[in-house]
Amino acid sequence: MTMRRETPPGATVLVVEDDVETRAALSRELRGRGYRVEEAEDGRSALRHWDARRPDIILLDLGLPDIDGVEVIKRIRREATTPILILSGRYDEREKVAALDRGADDYVTKPFGVEELNARLRVALRRAAGPTRDGSGRVTVGPLVLDAAAHEVSVNGTRVDLTPREFEILRVLLAHIGAIVTKGQLLRSVWGEAYRGEDAYVYVHVSQLRRKLAAADASGALAKLIVTEPGVGYRITSP
Ligand code: CA
Repeated sequence: MTMRRETPPGATVLVVEDDVETRAALSRELRGRGYRVEEAEDGRSALRHWDARRPDIILLDLGLPDIDGVEVIKRIRREATTPILILSGRYDEREKVAALDRGADDYVTKPFGVEELNARLRVALRRAAGPTRDGSGRVTVGPLVLDAAAHEVSVNGTRVDLTPREFEILRVLLAHIGAIVTKGQLLRSVWGEAYRGEDAYVYVHVSQLRRKLAAADASGALAKLIVTEPGVGYRITSP
């Protein structure tokens, strides 16, 4: 991606965390980086803030005392695509996947470093702000161009022969560039609801897609285009 954008000045972050100390530390850190911060100590208060203020991004702890963090995500996703970054405990693997499945963009695992958190915030905000395609529905990432209208993928101007499933996988990953796409999401959008749980399909087709992209690109940049998020799914960042 050639797009380069700084953090929107004064972006508003809604920090949803029931642990007082963690919440205070996060808020202090984020304010120090120039963000405006709103705080919520549980899910209901998070939704009230959401309704009243429409923050630019949401940092969401999944273990909340009242309603499930995943419920908060569902509610917000009915109305908006505002980036949601999950604060996840080391042992919340299943919850984390459920949250990503429901449309959260990314996660950081506690305890996390402030630099890591900042980097994730910047990526999520950039993604939310930025057009990643031109008016014709063409997406460009480094040497790769996906033309949705023509149903074509090319690398350095040479067409790559993809199966319809491979094309769809790439299209979905590029539509969520920077964010994690879970195996469940890929199954739903590429294969359909009936294929729930058939993770092996995703694995096989992503491997094949990776091989084709790597073979098409002598520079080697595309070999690492599709990054595996262990136990969760995949994501494309800029090569
Ligand atoms: Ca908690």
